[in-house]
Amino acid sequence: MKRAEIIAVGTELLLGQIANTNAQFIAKHLSALGYHHHFQTVVGDNSERLKSALEIASSRSDLIILTGGLGPTKDDLTKEVVAEFVQESLVYHEQSLEYIEQYFIKVNRPMTENNKKQALVIHNAHVLLNKNGMAPGMVYEVKNKQFVLLPGPPKEMIPMVEKELIPYFLKGKEASTIISKELKFFGIGESILETEILDLLENQSNPTIAPLASEGEVMLRVTASASNQQEAEKLIGQAEEKIRERVGQFIYGTNNENLFTVLSSKLKDFKLTISAAESLTGGLFSKRLTDIPGNSSIFKGSVVCYSNEIKQNLLNVPADILNKNGAVSAECAKSLVENIQRLTGSNISISFTGEAGPSTLEDVPVGKVFIGIKIGDSDSIVKEFQFSGTREQIRLSSVKNGANLLIK
Ligand code: ATP
Ligand code: MG
Repeated sequence: MKRAEIIAVGTELLLGQIANTNAQFIAKHLSALGYHHHFQTVVGDNSERLKSALEIASSRSDLIILTGGLGPTKDDLTKEVVAEFVQESLVYHEQSLEYIEQYFIKVNRPMTENNKKQALVIHNAHVLLNKNGMAPGMVYEVKNKQFVLLPGPPKEMIPMVEKELIPYFLKGKEASTIISKELKFFGIGESILETEILDLLENQSNPTIAPLASEGEVMLRVTASASNQQEAEKLIGQAEEKIRERVGQFIYGTNNENLFTVLSSKLKDFKLTISAAESLTGGLFSKRLTDIPGNSSIFKGSVVCYSNEIKQNLLNVPADILNKNGAVSAECAKSLVENIQRLTGSNISISFTGEAGPSTLEDVPVGKVFIGIKIGDSDSIVKEFQFSGTREQIRLSSVKNGANLLIK
């Protein structure tokens, strides 16, 4: 597999004034294009240092993608430095020049000489048209190496990659369609997942499989390229089958689904209603359910029973339990879930009680959480968890685990 790397040019990146989102965006596309991606560099608007970054990059990579520094001002020097590096001159690109001239006529402003500079491209480069700005991009190829120059502003760079660069790379190649499918996991950590499918991750080039972790969940993005949609889908299907054979029990959904949309669909399919009694989660479970439009048919409502007073007076948790076992106890979660079901008449109910931290009032470790579940007339069950992390993470883990228990 060929190797690619990204050089983002811009002093404001080094100063931390903006985040390098361009590199993130381009990186996501590299594996789909069939490249290994081993290095990223950020360099300021300085010719000497950019030249040295180019020397290093071209010594170890086949494709070097640069973003930023194509504009009209003095600090924009990317194409000048690359041109010198590959020993080419800069020439005017007629179509871009005309486009820039037309733009200034349209806005009725005089065109300064430095704006003309934006239409300069490296001699012999393939030009990537900029339909959202002025400076065109370029692909320059020499001795099996490719240099790609892209503008810095994301609103110019992103469409240029999608509409100009990727089609250019795929032209002449058999593949012309790239599609991705996301597999969503819960209850398995990133490192364990990776270990389980390490050989698949390492041996696949089409489709590529990329793990991604966020907010306590892991996702695998499977990306395939083929000559047509059907063929690409088939490749994804084959990889998905292998993944499901090994870790399928942890997959709860795909693509745009999340734990709460999956839970909502299941409740709708079975025409069931749900209610919640929320202590430490303060309504987060209910929020996540009501973030989804059209859920009034399944979500009856909830009681945010943050104080013992409300637990006792509104949800009839016996004083005995609160005094002896405490609010953070299996007994309290059980009483809450049974009483919220009685109160709302829902088919299914769930309760959350626990210690979200950062410090603890009672004699309970931070992160200890009890989740009660009651389905129809069957006995309620209570699961005990010990979560870690910040207050926010503990609350999020609570509601996600609650949803996950109900999905199963
Ligand atoms: P311009 O014509 O606007 O000067 P340019 O191609 O010269 O475009 P830069 O001057 O390097 O690009 O950057 C312009 C703006 O684009 C930056 O101020 C920043 O907002 C954004 N930008 C540049 N590089 C990146 C990056 N790597 N990630 C995210 N945004 C970026
Ligand atoms: Mg600029």
